[in-house]
Amino acid sequence: MAGRKFYVTTAIDYVNGPPGLHHAYERTATDAVARLRRQRGDEVFFLTGTDENATKNEEAAKAAGLETRAYVDQQSAEFKRMADLWQISYDRFIRTTDPDHVAGVQEFVRRWIANDDVYLATYEGLYCTRCEAFYEESDLIDGRCQFHPDNADAIQRVKEENYFFRLSKYSDRLKRLYRDTPGFCEPEIRRNEVLGWLDRGLRDISVSRGRSLGWGIPWPGDPKHTVYVWFDALINYATGVGFGTDEKLFKKWWPAELHVIGKDISRFHCIYWPAMLIAAGVPLPDRVFVHGFLEYRGQRLSKSSGNMIDPFATAAEWGVDAARYLVLREAPFEKDSPISPEQFNARFNADLANGLGNLVSRTMKMVETYCGGLVPSSGGEGESERTVHAAAVRAVEAHDVAAAKLYFADALAAIFTLVDAANKHYQVTQPWQLAKDPANAQPVAASLYAGLEALRITAHALWPYMPNVADSICAQLGLPSPAHAPWPEVVRWGLLEAGRKVHSGPPLFPRVEIAKAP
Ligand SMILES: [Zn+2]
Repeated sequence: MAGRKFYVTTAIDYVNGPPGLHHAYERTATDAVARLRRQRGDEVFFLTGTDENATKNEEAAKAAGLETRAYVDQQSAEFKRMADLWQISYDRFIRTTDPDHVAGVQEFVRRWIANDDVYLATYEGLYCTRCEAFYEESDLIDGRCQFHPDNADAIQRVKEENYFFRLSKYSDRLKRLYRDTPGFCEPEIRRNEVLGWLDRGLRDISVSRGRSLGWGIPWPGDPKHTVYVWFDALINYATGVGFGTDEKLFKKWWPAELHVIGKDISRFHCIYWPAMLIAAGVPLPDRVFVHGFLEYRGQRLSKSSGNMIDPFATAAEWGVDAARYLVLREAPFEKDSPISPEQFNARFNADLANGLGNLVSRTMKMVETYCGGLVPSSGGEGESERTVHAAAVRAVEAHDVAAAKLYFADALAAIFTLVDAANKHYQVTQPWQLAKDPANAQPVAASLYAGLEALRITAHALWPYMPNVADSICAQLGLPSPAHAPWPEVVRWGLLEAGRKVHSGPPLFPRVEIAKAP
């Protein structure tokens, strides 16, 4: 397992509005993957960024009274500020206005031209101005975009001369891909959607737009056209690691092991993107994971629906680590999930304040009071200690199974079975009662040693999700950060050495009185 390269990407976001909690959600989940792979010895490249060449940025800039370039600079900086605040450990924050991206996109298109995969034709079709995407009649619901059902004007009939990509030519090749590589698109519900599109047949698609407004990447050899923003955006995954500008870097990192995206853009990533890559002679990525939407008050969180939660306020209210935990724990990544301040508050209190926070503070205080602040010798496990030990083994195993599938709510639930087991263990063994009689020194030591080991293993498993909390627990145990620990040896029970000095720290999760917004 250890020592492989691992290239992982998020979607890149439109910058025609401020970042929302749903953007932080996708980045946090992908960050957990990147941190987990690094923790376990892989060499990771993590790409995220912003999608800036859309014509609607020009409109948004005009509305804001700014030059388009100045507008996208300002907006992209906000997305970067959010990623940094949420401790997203990206290796590159790509902007599709970056010169190396522009050069790489043009090289990509030149390869299609050389391969006779594009042609010029007049196109008339149904276009969602909000998605900036063409749809078939059958994709619409009551004549409206399925992603913008509240916007009656979003769908327009558009007629223009465009370059077309010969998608139909790749129909059989894509069917073969899905037959031979069942894990290419996950989870299964999304894969079945893709198979349905393939069964209904693929038509050639427009990949350029008339350059009426002047913003966007010029089409190589025909500057009256720009590369249609969706195709320019998809190519970021290749240009982000040097396609067209740095062949050595590209060879090192491509193909991507994992693209993480939302379910509204699965057609682009699971049909168009592989066909685009094959046409350009570029190998395919290993896996596309399609996550669900966050919902609040019965509606999807999104810019276009006007249903937004401010990720800066969320991080400020709960603390960054707790906010990362709450979105991943309350919103299973593989499906649509309602979230609310009430849910966050209940989860925060149960799992973090009363669960993990309490386990850390009571363990440290008891070790200081009854063992002079030194890790006691376990001196043989009783029944309760054996139960916690077994819970630790099961928790790590169950976590790894769920995390490999990117089912982060399940992965975190697995870790917290260990926290619960350790807190129950104290209720059973009651070291504070035992300690009243000096003859009980051994059972007190055994009880506290099991609590300390549960904490050490919890901190290591939690680090990809809550890096500051995990570091703080390890610091209290006198241990280095779990960022780079020999895995899986480090989560083996019984590694904590007797006699090591521990010290309690400040509370990990100060209680929140009233939650105003998640
Ligand atoms: Zn739409």
